[in-house]
Order: sequence, then structure tokens, then C-alpha cells
Amino acid sequence: MHFLVPGLLAWLLFRPVWKGAWMIMLASMLVDADHLLSTPIFSAGRCSIGFHPLHTGWAMLVYGIMLLVPRPWVRMLAVGLLFHMLTDFIDCLWMFSKCAGCCQHSSVQWVCGFFR
Ligand SMILES: [Zn+2]
Repeated sequence: MHFLVPGLLAWLLFRPVWKGAWMIMLASMLVDADHLLSTPIFSAGRCSIGFHPLHTGWAMLVYGIMLLVPRPWVRMLAVGLLFHMLTDFIDCLWMFSKCAGCCQHSSVQWVCGFFR
């Protein structure tokens, strides 16, 4: 999922240079380096969306603006980053479906209503 779907997106959006686009989008996975800034680095019941500095609404706004920058590699990176946010968000929803209490402690409490 985390490797193949960016490849598909790269192929759909940046076909002439899709291999390069795929590499850049995989590099966007480095955004998870911000997890290293938090303690504990990994926590089972924690949703990374809204918690880590590069996973907040403000960061996503920046990624959205990056889509408008007329430089292909900036756009590729932005698509990769936004896709990363989406997969992290899906991970959170998956976790909440098993642990409704986890949702109450997360930064995306607006989705909690679906898991009661
Ligand atoms: Zn992440």
C-alpha cells in the first residue's frame, strides 16, 4: 500500500517521468522523521494526524500550496506528502474502529462520533 499506490499515482499524474516521481513520493515518507521528535517514538494507541508537527492541518495547508508551485518535483513531493497524510489517517480510522477510547485522546476527535 505505502509503496505501490504512490507508484500508481506517479504513473497516472506524471507519466513521462513516473519513475522519478515515484522515487520523490517515496522520499516523502521521510516526513515520518518527525515521529522521532516525540516520546515515545512509537505508541500503539496514538494517531499521528494532528499530533506530529508535519502531520497537522497547517502542514497539510503548506502541502496543498505546494501543488500550485510550477515546479514538477515540488508537485510530486506535495502529492506524496498528501498521500502519506491520507494513509496515516486511514491507519487512525482503522485503529479507532478497534479502540474507541483512542479517538478521544487524538487530535481528530471530529471523527469519533462514527466509532461510538
Ligand atoms: Zn506519518
